[in-house]
Amino acid sequence: MRTGTRPRAAVAGVVMVLLVAAAGPGRAQVTPGAAPEIPAATRSAIDRLIDAAVRDSFAYQRLGELVDTYGSRLSGSESLERAFDWALARMKADGLENVHAEPVQVPHWVRGAESAELLEPRHAPLPMVGLGGSVGTPRRGITAEVLVVSTFDELTRRAADARGKIVLFDEVWQGYGRTVQYRGGAASAAARVGAVAALIRSVTPFALRTPHTGAMYYDTGVVRIPAAALTVEDAMMLHRMQDRGQHVVVHLTMEARTLPDAPSKNVMGEIRGSEHPDEVVVIGGHTDSWDVGQGSMDDMGGVVVSWEAVRLLQRLGLRPRRTIRVVGWVNEENGARGGEGYHDAHRDQLRDHVLAIESDGGVFRPTGFGFTGTDSAMALVRQVGGLLRRIGADTVSRGGGGTDIEALTEAGVPSMGLDDDGTRYFWYHHTNADTPDKLDPREMAECVAAMAVMAYVVADMPERLPWGVPAAR
Ligand SMILES: [Zn+2]
Repeated sequence: MRTGTRPRAAVAGVVMVLLVAAAGPGRAQVTPGAAPEIPAATRSAIDRLIDAAVRDSFAYQRLGELVDTYGSRLSGSESLERAFDWALARMKADGLENVHAEPVQVPHWVRGAESAELLEPRHAPLPMVGLGGSVGTPRRGITAEVLVVSTFDELTRRAADARGKIVLFDEVWQGYGRTVQYRGGAASAAARVGAVAALIRSVTPFALRTPHTGAMYYDTGVVRIPAAALTVEDAMMLHRMQDRGQHVVVHLTMEARTLPDAPSKNVMGEIRGSEHPDEVVVIGGHTDSWDVGQGSMDDMGGVVVSWEAVRLLQRLGLRPRRTIRVVGWVNEENGARGGEGYHDAHRDQLRDHVLAIESDGGVFRPTGFGFTGTDSAMALVRQVGGLLRRIGADTVSRGGGGTDIEALTEAGVPSMGLDDDGTRYFWYHHTNADTPDKLDPREMAECVAAMAVMAYVVADMPERLPWGVPAAR
């Protein structure tokens, strides 16, 4: 999750202790005139990686082929399983090693047909999208007066007005972490005061009348009522109507339902380590997406840049001392079963996980990484980050990871998230507009370079990255 501006890492003129070590005995060479601390072998490998990554648009082409062919990929869907099978076949064709799938059972929510219509003060269709996990309406839908509130607090104050109504939260964007609480909790908050359905203003800083979906949750012991998102524009319009004293009535129909859990998988492939093949740097993103758009920036782009990083190492013959494993996880969006399943399947090898890196914030222009680990590990990865100054991705800040690697982070595995320019991320997030045209081939290639360099240098260090993460503060 992105959390605003981070301080730039102070890496200028750093003494490359790590990299002297990384070149290893007999491998260290000094380039005349260059900073003597950086061994030529390491510098040359990094330059070759970055050059190869930005030379073409392979990652962007591969992303387009996958999402154009299979479309959106919600957990439990056939399109997700076909995308996984395609990825497995292509990983093998690429020459990755140990390509395989690991089974995971996933939740299976289906949307069905859905619509919303304004009945009073005038007739008009309202573009909407049901929230993931919601129950449906009765077959004939729900027709009710709308109560618009801005916050949970306002609903508490107006609880007496909510009974029998559809509550619409017209919450103002205050950053994803804060605003998304309305998507998650609107239904239960509204049900507690007797509402029959909940609507939210889409969780986004910018809209072209596009509704945004995403996960919602029911509190235990509270009546389950349907929940959907309207566009920013329509939420604000209904709010203005109410402020004018107009009677607002909406008709809502949703067929959403939850089916029994379905079989799915995490897929993975590797470049095996030359000296410590059982020690692993794991990198990746999530293959599943919401059932709207093409799940392009969220998060097939993250899977593809990680995959391409490993493919490039393979192609360039840069085999690190430790294994680098690329994983396409499943079910990040509505259950996190893929990340948990990976943790459980590798329970006995967690100590051999040297570093986990997730890319799940879009693959726009990379700026660096967020890192969760010990201070000594932080000092080392900041030095590695410094190698990415050439593409402006050299900032390593505190705090980073991802939903799919969270179970690893909690177990003590040093963890990272790829950081990028997130300006436009939440414009398209969980909408029909999450399509490849929003991404840029050159920026994606730079994300490949960042992932490849970080994974390679950490996997190739003579000593492993110090293990453990600080206790949550
Ligand atoms: Zn995601």
